[in-house]
Amino acid sequence: MQYKGPIYRPPSEADSLLIQATVGCPHNKCTFCMVYKNGPGYKVRDMKDIKADILRALDIYGDHVRTLFLPAGNTIAMKTDDLCEILIFAKETFSTLGRITVYGSSQYIHKKGPQGLKRLADAGLSRIHVGLESGDDIILKRIKKGTSSKEQIEAGRWVMDAGMELSLYVVLGIGGKDRTDSHARETAKVLNEIVPDFIRLRTFVPKINTGLLAEVQNGSFQMLSPHEVLREAALLITKLRASSYLASDHYTNYINLEGKFPEEKKRLLDKINIALKQEEASFRPFFIGTQ
Ligand code: SF4
Repeated sequence: MQYKGPIYRPPSEADSLLIQATVGCPHNKCTFCMVYKNGPGYKVRDMKDIKADILRALDIYGDHVRTLFLPAGNTIAMKTDDLCEILIFAKETFSTLGRITVYGSSQYIHKKGPQGLKRLADAGLSRIHVGLESGDDIILKRIKKGTSSKEQIEAGRWVMDAGMELSLYVVLGIGGKDRTDSHARETAKVLNEIVPDFIRLRTFVPKINTGLLAEVQNGSFQMLSPHEVLREAALLITKLRASSYLASDHYTNYINLEGKFPEEKKRLLDKINIALKQEEASFRPFFIGTQ
């Protein structure tokens, strides 16, 4: 198989076949994201090359592929017709194929509209991984996410209504000290409106070659301490009403908060309260991310 540029996939796609349909990210402006800052630029691969990779995977793995992930920043942004063609071809190639997933930002999902999303679901797209990051419009603007809470809610609901699963990623601490309260409250509001299948927590770590690292270094962005991150998580969880599955499957988090809502809300809040009794120095140290 051919791969170009950085290849990232969600931890939950660790066992999936990776077939690249797009390269880079068409947005590439988020101030916290380093992935494509040094290129390559956004590009959709030739259909014949994508299909050749799928057939090569059939040669290598046989007809045993159960899950497929199409990596790169925003594969959802490619033309709906072309993405449908890939989905259908993959389904025809692997009779065992169950789940097909992509990354997609709300702004590109929104452009598809309810009908485009229904077509993708009917063609075989089963889950979209979306970097929600925050539900606070001031934070979304500051980090140049290219979307708003209203657009994120509409896009999220359309995905669910089309019959696909939705996995939303929230970054604890992305609003810094001055927005921690509104980050937790506004994010919970957006999640309560969407009611995604999965909410996945990450903790903000400044990355090399990013605007947000420069803000951390010049003091205009004040990072949360471990206890402040945990208090932010507690407020978010307190305000969550969505019946979603909460996961924190990421190395950046201070503690593992995982459970079904609303049943496990109290257990998770108790876990945070226990962690808050630990010295801050006992949590992982500050570091600058390089990947
Ligand atoms: S976070 Fe996602 S949308 Fe933003 S620049 Fe990175 S890959 Fe693109």
